[in-house]
Amino acid sequence: MFVPDFTRSDVQAATTPEALAHGQGLAIHVADLDWDEYSLWGRLPGQGIGVGELLVHHADRPLTGECPCPDGRAAALCAHIVALASAFLGDDTELADRLAAPSPGEVVALALELADRSAWARQAIWLSLDARGSR
Ligand SMILES: [Zn+2]
Repeated sequence: MFVPDFTRSDVQAATTPEALAHGQGLAIHVADLDWDEYSLWGRLPGQGIGVGELLVHHADRPLTGECPCPDGRAAALCAHIVALASAFLGDDTELADRLAAPSPGEVVALALELADRSAWARQAIWLSLDARGSR
């Protein structure tokens, strides 16, 4: 399965603080989120933005996108493009809540799977354990 590889920092670097705040608030309204190796797409029905009009080109750095709104072609990502990217990344508070819910065994299994898929994740996990003196 292909998963777009961009982070919250990439979104932050490609937009303005105002669009970031507004876009993160709109993220829950994004519908029909999907992606391929070049783009992420979805629609914002409440804003009158349909499928095919709203895109994030996730391979570009800084991230770029397309939106039919007046700010959609500006160098900094508009709030709608930020909403789409944020809908894909999910909310950190919700992620923390969900991570706290499962049993420790499930979190261990997830960490092992991440370590298996990504050298970066593997080293990050070891470093975090080293910092706690567990290695
Ligand atoms: Zn827009």
